[in-house]
Amino acid sequence: MADYRACVVLLLLLCAVTVCVESKYMIYDTAQGVVKGKLNVHLVAHTHDDVGWLKTVDQYYVGSNNSIQGACVQNVLDSTIQALLADKNRKFIYVEQAFFQRWWRDQSEKTQAIVKRLVSSGQLEMINGGWCMHDEAAPHYIDMIDQTTYGHNFIKEQFNVTPRIGWQIDPFGHSAVQAYLLGAELGFDSVFFGRIDYQDRAKRKGDKRLEVIWRGSKSLGSSSQIFAGAFPENYEPPPGGFYFEVNDDSPIVQDDIDLFDYNVEERVNDFVAAALSQANITRTNHVMWTMGTDFKYQYAESWFRNMDKFIHYVNKDGRVNALYSTPSIYTDAKHAETDSWPLKEDDYFPYASDIDAYWTGYFTSRAGLKGYVRMLSGYYLAARQLEVMKGRNKAGPTTDYLGDALGIAQHHDAVSGTSQQHVANDYAKRLSIGQKEAEVVVAESIACMISPKPGCSSSASNIHQCPLLNISYCPSTEADLSSGKKLVAVIYNPLGWKRSDVIRLPVVSENVAVYDSSGKQVESQLLPIVKESISVRNYYATAYTGKTPSSTPKYWLAFTASVPPLGFSTYVISSTNKPASNFVKEAFYKHTGTGNDDIEIGPGNLKLIYSGSDGKLSQYVNSKSSIEASVKQSYSYYAGFDGTTGLQASGAYVFRPNGTYPIGSQKQNITVLKGTIYDEVHQKINPWIYQVTRVYKNKEHAEVEFTVGPIPIEDGVGKEIVTQITTTIKSNKTFYSDSNGRDFIKRIRDYRADWDLEVNQPIAGNYYPINLGIYLKDEQSELSVLVDRSVGGSSIVDGQLELMLHRRLLYDDGKGVAEALNETVCVGNDCRGLAVQGKYYVRIDPLGEGAKWRRSYGQEIYSPLLLAFTEQDGNKGTNFQVSKFSGMDPTYSLPDNVVLLTLQELEDGNVLLRLAHLYEIGEDKDLSVITRVELKKLFTKRKITKVSEMSLSANQGREEMEKKRLVWKVEGSKNDEPAVPRGGPVDPQKMVVELAPMEIRTFIVTLGKAISRRLVNSDISLQRSGSS
Ligand SMILES: [Zn+2]
Repeated sequence: MADYRACVVLLLLLCAVTVCVESKYMIYDTAQGVVKGKLNVHLVAHTHDDVGWLKTVDQYYVGSNNSIQGACVQNVLDSTIQALLADKNRKFIYVEQAFFQRWWRDQSEKTQAIVKRLVSSGQLEMINGGWCMHDEAAPHYIDMIDQTTYGHNFIKEQFNVTPRIGWQIDPFGHSAVQAYLLGAELGFDSVFFGRIDYQDRAKRKGDKRLEVIWRGSKSLGSSSQIFAGAFPENYEPPPGGFYFEVNDDSPIVQDDIDLFDYNVEERVNDFVAAALSQANITRTNHVMWTMGTDFKYQYAESWFRNMDKFIHYVNKDGRVNALYSTPSIYTDAKHAETDSWPLKEDDYFPYASDIDAYWTGYFTSRAGLKGYVRMLSGYYLAARQLEVMKGRNKAGPTTDYLGDALGIAQHHDAVSGTSQQHVANDYAKRLSIGQKEAEVVVAESIACMISPKPGCSSSASNIHQCPLLNISYCPSTEADLSSGKKLVAVIYNPLGWKRSDVIRLPVVSENVAVYDSSGKQVESQLLPIVKESISVRNYYATAYTGKTPSSTPKYWLAFTASVPPLGFSTYVISSTNKPASNFVKEAFYKHTGTGNDDIEIGPGNLKLIYSGSDGKLSQYVNSKSSIEASVKQSYSYYAGFDGTTGLQASGAYVFRPNGTYPIGSQKQNITVLKGTIYDEVHQKINPWIYQVTRVYKNKEHAEVEFTVGPIPIEDGVGKEIVTQITTTIKSNKTFYSDSNGRDFIKRIRDYRADWDLEVNQPIAGNYYPINLGIYLKDEQSELSVLVDRSVGGSSIVDGQLELMLHRRLLYDDGKGVAEALNETVCVGNDCRGLAVQGKYYVRIDPLGEGAKWRRSYGQEIYSPLLLAFTEQDGNKGTNFQVSKFSGMDPTYSLPDNVVLLTLQELEDGNVLLRLAHLYEIGEDKDLSVITRVELKKLFTKRKITKVSEMSLSANQGREEMEKKRLVWKVEGSKNDEPAVPRGGPVDPQKMVVELAPMEIRTFIVTLGKAISRRLVNSDISLQRSGSS
């Protein structure tokens, strides 16, 4: 009691000597901007909203399933808007447009008008602005462009603004493609991120090199550079207690003298100390504080109230200057302060957060989902082309839902494989819904184009597609044709080059023949479908469709289809009295160790030799390229480190091997199927790995189809399955891996260009993400492996390439997902570990010859021929008459070094067109040169009335973007840096687009009225009934 009275007296005295202000209402001065000559602390209020992770995107949005995570994005946006209205100096940034769009469509016109004002005043700034904050390891660059375009288009439409800052704060490592392509080429002035290797971070802090000028592309160099800032720790507030979500335990700023625990001085001291500590590792008088973290600002006033007070009292104190800021304001301040910055090249992979925590497992995590995303990525590209040719149907169906689902799937917990299982299921469900709708668009377009009369008279419901063809399930081709029905395969080529490829279809009878559109019979081949394939087919087709397949195909019918660029060909399959195809029988080679003769595979130039003594691959011989190489292929698994001892476990993110174990290293029996089109070697490596190697007559590479799983876990050990291709190439620790399927980056084992690497994890620490391929070389030859999805890979031993194909683990790795990566699939109550089927492609070339194959075949893998099927009654004429067409001038083909990345009809009827040069400078002696595309020959049926060159995401004119761009200077560089080659402006008369190596150019094309009925050139030829 006595103490209390003394206190009151003391307070009254204090009031008397100082100024005793009215304590009930306080106006904080938050208007402070940048002050020159002082240390400026930029308070950047932000929330990091994962587009699915522990909960699904919709659960996060509405705030359901809170027992998993108390997170509601709707609350974040509702409360932040109110908090911004309360004080015009407050600022906030928002990133993930998949969430913002959900919120936006829930708002009244009045609220929308208010928010538009907040955006135009800069109080609310859209940063990054993609549909999600994409991962940087697992997505293909085309997906990264598409998802960013999707978000930027939404922002442009609603707010007429263009984001100018990259904000990749959470992805687990950062790619070169992110820096230059999804950064500089978008018109971004800077990119910020939170996660770089712990050793790299420590060194950069010491050298004040966290902030750099990043040149991600060797080819585009300084023309595509960006200011890049790695945060000192993470994307949260600095150490020292600056978290202010309602339940956070940081001491709030208590400045009410009528209440206990007044702490303004302490808190100001904390603030100044944290600012000075960050200033010690940062160049210039500007530091950024990321004020927020995952799903924060659900009660925004709590954060802003404390920041108001800090700004007010810290600036009164005067030692440092605190201000409400955004990454744009911060970037401009950095740009104004100093004239040169350290240079960074290549990328920030792999990422280790700790001595044993290499985040390289997620390069392969959820290999099935990764495969599905990649398959649909290629399908989406083709479906949009077909949508353009038909004309976009405003009332639907459209490809938009698939674009939305693919956008969400690029999130850094989606295709990365680091979400919880129920969320991964949600991603797959969205993709499947989008796929179904896009299939209708494709069917309508094909129906329209094969239709003999104007007005698209053929019915789309008769056009079928087979998304499960990879597991030999395709009801259309499994139909009984003995009654005289004919199966018509419409084969669409989304590439701008003429193309031949082998088509493989499951059929029920051997009495079938294949005819081309002129009625001429083409060579075909029948191979038995092995029981292992049928078992995978029946189980997974049932799991996927919910129905047990009613029939069982017996054979793969194979033939070579030849398809014009951006067009289709049709082939007819009909029944015959006797097998018309080359019937392939199985030859079974049993290895008893007595040294049988070697077995040679391959009907063309390429031969693979399998050793007669152990059944293993031993030689790769190509008579055309004069390559004769000794080559081995093997499997092994890494035992996942378990988490029971509290040490770092292998999990969804982290790869931490605990021993390597060979698989199937003993002698093996092999089954060989030899045909005229291709040969197959079947190997049952162990009870849960089955492999088919194909060598085609007209292809100079080997194709390996693997089925891995269910990975057994009964021994309590998680396993990560890898395959190795071993040659005698003297690669001297060096190999090359792609960046998001685009540029190749040189990797050296146990080495980092930016610091002296302390090697703790000699395997996991040498893993890199592979999206297109990986290769190594010596002075004679190069070994390349291309992949059909995102995987992890490395070269752990000279001459050897390794891919991780699948992983199943039993412990959580403690990085947040709180689940073991243990995928299963169920049919009723029958649940099994997930099996993954995929392909990779192997080729050995003389030195300097490999790039052509990697680039052009890589594009064929990304954009496979799209197959659709319809039936025609043999006796009743035809329901289609156009049997072949090209979407462009039939005499034209895109140059070998150019690919059409986007052909898409926009909502306003204009066409979005993206063209990409496929080669880097110096990559190929013939093709790494400036090349030209004639737009008039791409659009032959409608006149081009206008072509506008745009930024990569098409949200601003390219010229306007170039003018606004901040110019940065690199430390030690002179003003006379060589000019980077770029294509020149497009002459409106000639309409020729030039592309320099690695250049991607984006255009909005306005087309006039159709010159003829179809957008496409069609070669109308009447199908004769009973063609033979
Ligand atoms: Zn995140």
